[in-house]
Amino acid sequence: MKTHRVAVLPGDGIGPEITRAALKVLRVVEERNPVHFDLIQAPFGAQAYFDHGHPFPETTQAICDRADAILKGPVGLDYEATKKIPVDMQPERGAVLPLRARYNTYANFRPIVLPQALAHFSPLRPEIIGDGIDIMLIRELVGGLYFGTKTVGVDADNHRYVEETLRYDEIQIKQILKKGLELAQRRKGVLHNIHKSNVLKSSVLWNEVLEEMAPAYPDVKIVHMLVDAAATHLCLNPRQFDVMVMENMFGDILSDQGGGIIGSLGLMPSACIGDAKAYYEPSHGSAPDIAGRNIANPYSMIGSAAMMLEYSFGMAAEARNIWAAMQAVFADGFSTPDLTQPGVKVETIGTEAFGDKVVAKLRAAPRVA
Ligand code: ATP
Repeated sequence: MKTHRVAVLPGDGIGPEITRAALKVLRVVEERNPVHFDLIQAPFGAQAYFDHGHPFPETTQAICDRADAILKGPVGLDYEATKKIPVDMQPERGAVLPLRARYNTYANFRPIVLPQALAHFSPLRPEIIGDGIDIMLIRELVGGLYFGTKTVGVDADNHRYVEETLRYDEIQIKQILKKGLELAQRRKGVLHNIHKSNVLKSSVLWNEVLEEMAPAYPDVKIVHMLVDAAATHLCLNPRQFDVMVMENMFGDILSDQGGGIIGSLGLMPSACIGDAKAYYEPSHGSAPDIAGRNIANPYSMIGSAAMMLEYSFGMAAEARNIWAAMQAVFADGFSTPDLTQPGVKVETIGTEAFGDKVVAKLRAAPRVA
């Protein structure tokens, strides 16, 4: 029996309810495998600031330091509530960016997946979905504009100004491109490199580094695409993409678009990988507009737990069973309300019911040898 210690940070908004569903699924994984998860919950995010004076309290940092992996819900409150928190203590700046920096989780894997059978969830026409969308978007997570220095002040003319810097060095670029090239090798041998080299010098360096690395990966075809063009192509012909790699802010924006084309941000899990530690979280925010109403889609959180099993604990087969269990619930005609489209018949169910149906499907799945 193996024991894995997992720091569980439910977060804010819909975080706690979708986390509950994911933890139930992990308990079923324990029933089916010689494995035990030591699940240690800890405060993190805006509510943690109000309760403990810091969005990433020291006690939570210690729990994360000792954990084998971290399962994290989304953080943040609505606009008015956020204004009550000092700018540097607001959860993205005060908790999420420090979490990423602490463990140097530089590689963010965001699957954008919609099987053909679920084409009706997408706002795109079924002909565009074709035999299904299956993209892995890789976002650099600890560099660029989001991590640059930030200065605010008042200039000589008494106008307020802000200056934020965008910095990448070749080591950072190389390590994320390596992830992209290696994944492209294991998948279809095509890597879309998303950049903005006609305007940004950071993209010019990025592309230079990629050209230097490319000869070592002769089996990978590299397709260069400007980020604005990529946004259009994601709508017009998403099936041309298999593995996409890009810098931090481009990845933040295009992955939300990815959620849009498959029908909901609720279908977007992710893995944030560093060389020594990884954490797993939905790609979306805390959706305060629907929090506490038992209507959020827990797919993103359960999917993040599945990614944790595969990437941190070597349980790829059981992870596949979890994906299959979630797809089977959809195939039975059930979904949370975010996935209902006009004219499409689905029976809407709540967060908890969706999680329970996934649990039942997983229990019924053949065990991994
Ligand atoms: P952030 O910048 O923190 O990622 P955001 O501005 O992208 O946040 P989200 O909180 O991600 O905003 O959510 C945008 C909208 O998408 C929400 O208002 C909600 O309606 C919907 N949404 C997000 N996640 C889910 C989910 N798991 N289930 C259902 N709807 C969701």
